[in-house]
Amino acid sequence: MNTTSTGMDDIFLKIIAGEIPATKIYEDEHTVAFLDINPNNKGHALVIPRTKYRNIYDADSTALSCMMVTAQKVARAQKEALGADGVNIVMNNEAPAGQEVFHAHIHVIPRFTDDGIFAHSKHTAYAEGEMQTIADKIKEVLT
Ligand code: AMP
Repeated sequence: MNTTSTGMDDIFLKIIAGEIPATKIYEDEHTVAFLDINPNNKGHALVIPRTKYRNIYDADSTALSCMMVTAQKVARAQKEALGADGVNIVMNNEAPAGQEVFHAHIHVIPRFTDDGIFAHSKHTAYAEGEMQTIADKIKEVLT
């Protein structure tokens, strides 16, 4: 468990402890879900583990599993309650990937037809043979 926490790191622990206000929508033994204060769409929620992990790199498998099960519950509730047409499940890990709060969390973002968010995602292309080279590098670590 990563117990290092300073500044922004403490915000989600404070929400869990009820020390700062949050619009909580769900709690269970392992997770808490609450609305994001700066939502991509109304109803955008965050799911966090009660135990502090920095992100996907150090989180244990039980915490990750429980977070995803809660994310599914929240997504289904957004669909029923808000009439969402779809959902993005997003986890930002480390600053280059957009992580700002270093307590692991999953964004559950309700989507509506033609809402236009995330409209400008960037793609890249492989050179000849590069796709297999990169796959081989990753496989070597996985096996
Ligand atoms: P990330 O960029 O993935 O680290 O996302 C952190 C998210 O936490 C952002 O979308 C913020 O709007 C949200 N956030 C930060 N502080 C709070 C808070 N006190 N209550 C609710 N959401 C928060």
